[in-house]
Amino acid sequence: MKATGHREFLAGLIRLHVLHHAVDGEFYGNWMIEELREHGYRIGPGTLYPMLHALERKGYLRSRSEDTGRRARRHYRATRKGRGALAVAKTKVRELLAELDGKR
Ligand SMILES: [Zn+2]
Repeated sequence: MKATGHREFLAGLIRLHVLHHAVDGEFYGNWMIEELREHGYRIGPGTLYPMLHALERKGYLRSRSEDTGRRARRHYRATRKGRGALAVAKTKVRELLAELDGKR
């Protein structure tokens, strides 16, 4: 399903998606762009990287640079604060989903 537009609502979901993978393990920017694309989110480096930097600045992610020979690649993963935020958000998402699905 394509998810273009509706930026205001989708931005939070994209951040949670990013956070989920950062808790799961490490990722790098281009991998995340592809991953989000597979889920129908069209997000370019000009949007993703500022988002990653902001999440890092706020303490949800940390990064390390890995030299792959030709160029350095930055890997991101969740901090303890990031894991906590995902846990809280998951509870909220489940609750919301139940309501959206009319189970409450
Ligand atoms: Zn994913």
